[in-house]
Amino acid sequence: MTPLAHVVTTDLAAIMRGRPVSEERLQKAAAIGLGWVPANLCLTPFNSIPGENPWGSAGDLRLVPDLSARFSTSSTGAETPLDLVMGDLVELDGSPWTGCTRTQLKDALAALKKATGLSVVAAFEQEFLLRPAIADPLRVPGHAFSVASFRATGVFGPRLATCLEEAGVEPEMVLPEYGNDQFEVTHAPTDGLAAADRAIVIREVTREVARNLGRRACFAPKPAVEGVGNGVHIHFSLVDADGKPATYDGGRPGGLAAAAGSFCAGVLKHLQVLTVLTASSPPSYYRLAPHNWSSSYTWLGERDREATLRICPVVTMGGRDPAKQFNIEYRAADATANPYLALAGIVRAGLAGIEQKLPAPPIVSGDPTLMSEAELDAKGLRRLPETLEAALEALKADETVCAWFPKSLIDSFVAVKQAELALMAGKDKAEICAAYGDRY
Ligand code: GLU
Ligand code: MG
Repeated sequence: MTPLAHVVTTDLAAIMRGRPVSEERLQKAAAIGLGWVPANLCLTPFNSIPGENPWGSAGDLRLVPDLSARFSTSSTGAETPLDLVMGDLVELDGSPWTGCTRTQLKDALAALKKATGLSVVAAFEQEFLLRPAIADPLRVPGHAFSVASFRATGVFGPRLATCLEEAGVEPEMVLPEYGNDQFEVTHAPTDGLAAADRAIVIREVTREVARNLGRRACFAPKPAVEGVGNGVHIHFSLVDADGKPATYDGGRPGGLAAAAGSFCAGVLKHLQVLTVLTASSPPSYYRLAPHNWSSSYTWLGERDREATLRICPVVTMGGRDPAKQFNIEYRAADATANPYLALAGIVRAGLAGIEQKLPAPPIVSGDPTLMSEAELDAKGLRRLPETLEAALEALKADETVCAWFPKSLIDSFVAVKQAELALMAGKDKAEICAAYGDRY
């Protein structure tokens, strides 16, 4: 049997799609790419393409494998290896295509570096449910964080850890989380582009390991209305041109260095618009509610899991250096958002904050739902959009954020999300959670 590698691209519904090829064709494709169709960018997670989209039936692209971003494992339990090669979409003459989300992240990272000399280091922390193959009403879910919950998955946990190690994504932990049947998978921080690659690879490997054990891994933001949400927490820090940590300054509030403070201020300033790029489906907004430990306000907090930007803890035991560990966690993201676009949005907002020399945001503690309007105002706390409709309207109305991306990309994004909303029209929350639970 000829093993096949998959050259992949991730679209606006955050689905990894691609073309399977032999090793020989893969090597040839590195020079000229493989055929791809522009309108594919506008596929919904329900296998439809909205009639109103910028591409129509015409046109052709090339999907060019980036051989330096290849992730393979032969331990998923499948008969053949899972071999994923990240691809970039280009025009037939090799120039970048405006709809390529991976290219958008590269451009955002390059713009930050050019303007400030700073680079982003990131890590995606992802939660998912490990669902049984057949629903058994007599089954009792295990305890949160318990040894028994982990052991009850059988070979799933160790196998997933082995596959991720083999694929080179530097897994840190696969662990049972708080929710019923909920798990979390983390990887070591790396440069921004590689982190987004790792995020989608980890999801796909997790799904495949589960599938081969007759289980299903579900990364949907809210698999059930009453259940716990699945977050994708994006950890980020800045390094200077020499690769030295540049986020930490022990003399400033929260330990935030000046540029990092401005970066966070930029993110919070644009957050109500940015959210749609990081939480991109109707059920995303059932998760982004107060008291879910997800995030729901434009809020910088220190070690507070309700904040949207959380200053993470540093360990000083044994004389460890805080600067090397110091990072900020963006919590308003989930797996229905394209990780390239999500991080590109965060970087563009952060860059705007640095360029405008915005002062670091106040560090807020407390419960915003118990604060008066005046107190919320004084602390700069504004509620994030409460529905995908509202989030999409906010994006459409914001020329600044739209201008961070090519118009055709924004138009495609709006088309896909409007199509998803139309497909969900008339369904109640439970049906919407179930529909997205089945697709993610
Ligand atoms: N499940 C929570 C979320 O939806 C996160 C819980 C935590 O790990 O802090 O983001
Ligand atoms: Mg978690």
